[in-house]
Amino acid sequence: MAKGSKFGLPAQMLAGLVLGVVVGAVVSSEFAATYLQPLGQLFIRLIRMVVVPLVFATLVAGAAGISDISKLGRVAVKTVLVFAITTAISVTFGLIVAGVIDPGLGLTLTTEGLKAKTVTAPAFVDVLLNIVPINPFEAFTKGSMLQVIFFAIMFGFCLSAMGERGKPVLQFFDLVGDVMIRMTNAVMRYAPIGVFGLIAFTVSRHGLAVLLPLGKLILASFVATALLVIVVYIPIVVGIIRIPVGTYFKGIFEPWLIAFTTCSSAAAMAANLLSSRKLGATKTISSFAIPLGNTINMNGTAVYMGVTAIFAAQVYGIDLSLGDQITVVMMGVMAAIGTAGVPGAGLIMSTIVFTQVGIPLEAVALIAGVDRVLDMIRTSINVVGDSTTALVVSRLEGELGKEPLDEDELAA
Ligand code: ASP
Repeated sequence: MAKGSKFGLPAQMLAGLVLGVVVGAVVSSEFAATYLQPLGQLFIRLIRMVVVPLVFATLVAGAAGISDISKLGRVAVKTVLVFAITTAISVTFGLIVAGVIDPGLGLTLTTEGLKAKTVTAPAFVDVLLNIVPINPFEAFTKGSMLQVIFFAIMFGFCLSAMGERGKPVLQFFDLVGDVMIRMTNAVMRYAPIGVFGLIAFTVSRHGLAVLLPLGKLILASFVATALLVIVVYIPIVVGIIRIPVGTYFKGIFEPWLIAFTTCSSAAAMAANLLSSRKLGATKTISSFAIPLGNTINMNGTAVYMGVTAIFAAQVYGIDLSLGDQITVVMMGVMAAIGTAGVPGAGLIMSTIVFTQVGIPLEAVALIAGVDRVLDMIRTSINVVGDSTTALVVSRLEGELGKEPLDEDELAA
């Protein structure tokens, strides 16, 4: 990544974003679709290319790198608990804030003629069963992230249990992880152009005017997410991690900005690993929590699930009972866990939530117009949630700030 220079990656990403909005507002949508959209698609393809081996290798190395099996179990349990608690709180935040802002009032559509149950959400037990791949190679080729993660963690556990004899394989995956981080950093050099293409296409297709009627939806998402940071994250930083809030925000700035501009957690993962290390997380804990959280810990997406459910219910005049709202929280957590770290994935996953509470899936088309903006907001928090968890677990293990970065990490 361009370090040191004044016009480094963060500045380039912002420039790509601003230029994309300006160009998108003046060119025709045909021009944008023909010439600009492919620039963005190329970026998304590059990210999708790196994500499976990146997550797999770093997660195997992260799990196997904790040689003490009981410590590995402890770290895994703490990490997953922090993920689960913050995700459930996030959906609830989305529900409450949207309940106050009422983003869907004033925009009334009828449900007449619309069938809510056009897709049926898979049964809970099937969702769980599906996490276990029948064939890990099929999971790799299809990019089924939850299955890849399940296999990676089991592989890492077993590798760790092999002790000395497993070391060469651990070293191998450690190196593959470093190669993939380097590859992600190479791909990220192209990101400013990709971001330019993606945002220019969105603006030219939907126009800036679409922002107005759906402005309240954006506002609700933003307020809910900001409140999550203020009410949950900052107290965690101050009370549990115990580092100055300024240091924390400065430390997470680069991955946050990459997530905000690219709308992809996967794109920000390499930067997130480095920044959580710099903030004091240990190598093993961050290489366990960050690749795992990259797919399963999506607090921003969880907020979005709550906000969009209220929005869509209001637009279609559907009353969500308390029971429905509890369903939204449960399905929202599952939908967020299953969301891949690529642009727009959350919008598709929101259908799981909508279906469960009888909201017509046409709501998705309505939200799609502003989804890019909502995606920027949610992805930034998805990424920040992962590094925060790595820091919390490092602190709970009494290891925060005790393992300085090695040369290899700095060189990647
Ligand atoms: N774009 C999000 C991410 O990469 C996922 C989502 O669409 O909610 O984290």
